[in-house]
Amino acid sequence: MRLSRHFIPVMKESPADAQIISHKLMLRAGLIRQTAAGIYAWLPLGYRVLRKIEQIVREEQDRAGAIELLMPTIQSADLWRQSGRYDDYGLEMLRIKDRHERDMLYGPTAEEVITAIFRDSAKSYRDLPRTLYNIQWKFRDEVRPRFGVMRGREFLMKDAYSFDMDEAGARHSYNRMFVAYLNTYARMGLRAIPMQADTGPIGGDLSHEFIVLAPTGESEVFYHSNWEKPAELSSVDFDDVEGLQAIVSGYTADYAATDEKRDEAREAAIGGDLRQSRGVEVGHIFYFGTKYSAPMGLKVQGPDGGEVVPHMGSYGIGVSRLMGAIIEASHDDNGIIWPEAVAPYKVGIINMRADDARCTAAADDLYARLNAAGVEALYDDRDERGGAKFATMDLIGLPWQVVIGPKGLERGVVELKNRKSGEKVELSIEDALARLA
Ligand code: ATP
Ligand code: MG
Ligand code: MG
Ligand code: MG
Repeated sequence: MRLSRHFIPVMKESPADAQIISHKLMLRAGLIRQTAAGIYAWLPLGYRVLRKIEQIVREEQDRAGAIELLMPTIQSADLWRQSGRYDDYGLEMLRIKDRHERDMLYGPTAEEVITAIFRDSAKSYRDLPRTLYNIQWKFRDEVRPRFGVMRGREFLMKDAYSFDMDEAGARHSYNRMFVAYLNTYARMGLRAIPMQADTGPIGGDLSHEFIVLAPTGESEVFYHSNWEKPAELSSVDFDDVEGLQAIVSGYTADYAATDEKRDEAREAAIGGDLRQSRGVEVGHIFYFGTKYSAPMGLKVQGPDGGEVVPHMGSYGIGVSRLMGAIIEASHDDNGIIWPEAVAPYKVGIINMRADDARCTAAADDLYARLNAAGVEALYDDRDERGGAKFATMDLIGLPWQVVIGPKGLERGVVELKNRKSGEKVELSIEDALARLA
């Protein structure tokens, strides 16, 4: 895409109401605009990143055996009366009346909807196990929406729901999501630490929050220094019950807890290897047994003909929040540094002299050939000073920049810069193409 025809409204100064770096940079780089408190429009560049994050989440859900569907944003209050949550949910729920005075709501989550859908079609044990998911907008009327998309009121969530015949089956479904989550975050260049989380009245140990360390995070966290290593992908057979359990047990062996779940005895044993930090909750997985299936009347026929009430779990990822978390983890004084997997474009082409026919011909040619090779390129073809173009490219943070100027072209070279390392090399246009394609 040519920058001269694009819509990327960058800002020089960060707006006064933005307190944390990711929020500032998202506004300055023209990724989002606030339209009401905690409600954002996704501008073209931000929307490209959001779709890439969403796609990684989708691919890892699919790999783990979950099945995608799409549920509505507006839900009927009747469903929530069936589960008993309508009156309990409180002020975070945005309640709406339709023209017939029926109580509706904008979904803050979808346990009730999915349980009703599954109830109306699953009849026998052969219909289980299943994990269904959707990536859909949610609304929570947060008391204090803040930090941009980190705590929005309208936000994009991946929410999955598992249905199993018994607790052992549910544990396997849980483990699938546990590993899928770690792989999802690792692909975005994030180390998310699974931390034991509160299970409420259900009890048990099957609830984890996935936390990305960041000084501006809202959770206070404690963990073993073993977690301070880069994330890696687990290649795993998701149907291998024992193999998956072994991976999960390996990950949960090292201590990690939010301040509500601290274990003083374990912390004392860890001693000098204990670390304290702040973190952002980018995902949460939860086993809750028959909490929704029982009151909502979901049951299937078991192999012996008797009725079985399925055991369920739910699994959320904050898709839009992740964009903020990625920027918190990856930026410098000049702007965002996108990990390649989620970058809005892979490479930015800077034509230093749009008024120079030779420079423009070379830049046009490189742009056309990158497009032909399927490399996503953003071409700064505007008639602006070089310095302003550098600043814009650094701010929006594409992984690679190719700088084309008259002096280099005299010698038959362009400059290839890596945004993250800052490393610059001079090479021919052919070699630059080979490196990027
Ligand atoms: P928090 O503790 O931050 O309020 P939560 O525990 O209420 O989050 P869950 O119900 O566990 O959230 O929802 C699943 C995921 O959705 C969270 O892990 C988080 O990544 C994301 N999420 C929740 N609330 C918001 C929000 N207001 N804005 C953006 N993402 C959110
Ligand atoms: Mg919350
Ligand atoms: Mg939480
Ligand atoms: Mg949570």
